[in-house]
Amino acid sequence: AVDKPTNFIRNIIDDDLANHKYETVITRFPPEPNGYLHIGHAKSICLNFGLAEDYQGGCNLRFDDTNPTKEDVEYVDAIKEDVTWLGFQWAGEPRYSSNYFQKFHDYAVELIEKGLAYVCFLNAEQTREYRGTLTEPGKDSPYRDTSVAENLELFVKMKNGEFKEGECVLRAKIDMASSFMCMRDPTLYRIRYAHHHQTGDEWCIYPMYDFAHCISDGIEGVTHSLCTLEFQDNRRIYDWLLEHLDDFNKPDRPFQYEFSRLNLEYTVMSKRKLMQLVEDGLVSGWDDPRMPTLSGLRRRGVTPAAVRDFAERIGISKVDSMTEMGILEAAIRDDLNVVAPRTMGVIDPIKLVIENYPEGEVEALQAPVHPQNEAMGKREISFSRELYIDRADFIEEAPNKKWQRLALDKEVRLRNAYVVKGLRAETDADGNITTVYCSYDPETLGKNPADGRKVKGVIHFVEASKALPAEFRLYDRLFSVPNPAKEDDFEAVINPESLVVKNGFVEPGMKDAEPEQAYQFEREGYFCRDNQAGDALVFNKTVGLRDTWSQ
Ligand code: ATP
Ligand code: MG
Ligand code: MG
Repeated sequence: AVDKPTNFIRNIIDDDLANHKYETVITRFPPEPNGYLHIGHAKSICLNFGLAEDYQGGCNLRFDDTNPTKEDVEYVDAIKEDVTWLGFQWAGEPRYSSNYFQKFHDYAVELIEKGLAYVCFLNAEQTREYRGTLTEPGKDSPYRDTSVAENLELFVKMKNGEFKEGECVLRAKIDMASSFMCMRDPTLYRIRYAHHHQTGDEWCIYPMYDFAHCISDGIEGVTHSLCTLEFQDNRRIYDWLLEHLDDFNKPDRPFQYEFSRLNLEYTVMSKRKLMQLVEDGLVSGWDDPRMPTLSGLRRRGVTPAAVRDFAERIGISKVDSMTEMGILEAAIRDDLNVVAPRTMGVIDPIKLVIENYPEGEVEALQAPVHPQNEAMGKREISFSRELYIDRADFIEEAPNKKWQRLALDKEVRLRNAYVVKGLRAETDADGNITTVYCSYDPETLGKNPADGRKVKGVIHFVEASKALPAEFRLYDRLFSVPNPAKEDDFEAVINPESLVVKNGFVEPGMKDAEPEQAYQFEREGYFCRDNQAGDALVFNKTVGLRDTWSQ
């Protein structure tokens, strides 16, 4: 069906379709609405929605909202926005596990009636004791042999709020000696007197993940239920439940397959840790451009195409590993290099005064929007006697012959304009350079000096009278160690240089830059206008022009 690199899940699907186990492929992406989506979720989204696209099936967006105390509609809305931003479309309306609360209840009753579930009054500590250990089998709960009739009555009482929170739970009657700990009579339902964002106060019993997930898949006709490796053991519960419920015990029922989760260097990826960074004020919010959230990446200028390409590059496997940040950055750079219009911005400005350029004159020059893509057209840039250049592009005395920027008595080309030569520099009281005086060669616009002088270096500039002041937010990796999650206190290893703010100048045309639209500030890197700054000209650095980390 597809010409994409294959993986073990595609192989399974190909077999299932060839054997007519299913006639179509239905996947689902099941986020819990208890935080914002991150780049790890994007791996799962690209996999699930990508398979649905490639096999012309469907992918459901299902809010796995069975845990009312941690969830909120704020997250529901953000998740929809992020999936849409990535360019995917869910099949039909978004679904909610909470839509199935009545059905979950009825399937629980079916299990009780079959003698396969019971209400258990052991407290948490006793339950742990009875469960046993990896080397020792568990013991049966004293409530395991309660009659079906009595269990049905007790479950009604649970549902009607006649028990306190924690007083009892509904458990599956599976095998207290199983070598899979999760099969030792797992909890199916617990009591929570909590307001639910979709169902209000209608329910005080809430299903556990293991119970709700497989049944939701069954109700929705999911064929391939893809989750991360931590759920490998839980697959036994998944299969057990579907095989013991009449509606689902069929050859074309859903099956679960596990793949390795994304772990990315120099960041953290659990919603709990990301939430902590927000709550402790170490970042400006879930959409801080340093966050690995999709809203953070978007605000930083990362494109959906780059995220999807990244997901392709890392692929799908069953081996847990740590992915280098360089792989994400390369995917971003490769996309932006093609699509980003070029412009000039001076991040740490000093004045450049051209002494032999006529005073009061402003010249309009043409520059390509993208030097490798003529179809993107041209932009107008201004040139005059007073310009801004970057502090790093001038030094009084060139340290060696390799110096390709401006120095006294040395020539350099101003990007898209003329060749200039440094004459003298002015400094402030602290010895910092404020102004460089130079001369220009009027015969060098768009051509080399006629006498054969070689001018190799090129620096960028903005014309001073028309330049617009702008704020540059230079972002770097949020953490200074590759695996912050394994630190005792991950907040102690935040990179203090992860945000550096500079004030400089941009070309006047940038006043119309759309938020999130990527630009390449030539020689500086990729940036986009901040989507929270309103009319202020604030540019967020997306990524540098080349990989400076792996050198
Ligand atoms: P977290 O650990 O960040 O809280 P979660 O797994 O609890 O994540 P869910 O909202 O339940 O978050 O995740 C929705 C889907 O995204 C699940 O199917 C899960 O397997 C997948 N997912 C979450 N994190 C990753 C990751 N790092 N790599 C790949 N898939 C992920
Ligand atoms: Mg989860
Ligand atoms: Mg979680």
